[in-house]
Amino acid sequence: MGFENFGTVSFTAAAKAADFMTHLEAGKVMTTRCRNCGASYFPPKADCPACLSSDVDWFEIKGQGKLNTYTIVNYGPTGFENDAPYILALGEFEGGIQVLARLSRDIKPDDIKVGMSLALSPVKLPDNRVAYEFNKV
Ligand SMILES: [Zn+2]
Repeated sequence: MGFENFGTVSFTAAAKAADFMTHLEAGKVMTTRCRNCGASYFPPKADCPACLSSDVDWFEIKGQGKLNTYTIVNYGPTGFENDAPYILALGEFEGGIQVLARLSRDIKPDDIKVGMSLALSPVKLPDNRVAYEFNKV
């Protein structure tokens, strides 16, 4: 299994970090930490950009994060034209991991505040596709 069912539009069918999809389908948003230098990344990387090691550990991004910033996307790029408007947000989680994801449509625009607590969770899309999004804690 690769990345063919990831997100609204999948731009690749295979990836070295394809375990991400297996974890996502199992209900966990996971990412990688380099065993050699300790650097963590999101999205996950099978090869560490800092030291080039391929020795990485997977760990779950869980608990409360906080909203660092967000933007309202009114004109979606190719493949996302019918999704707009939607909100893209940058959240920060334990260990300084930064995640770019959509904000759940369950969060009303008037309730969005920079610094608010967020949770990151998998979301099922039509046609057996999966992605992840931020939800209110
Ligand atoms: Zn490294």
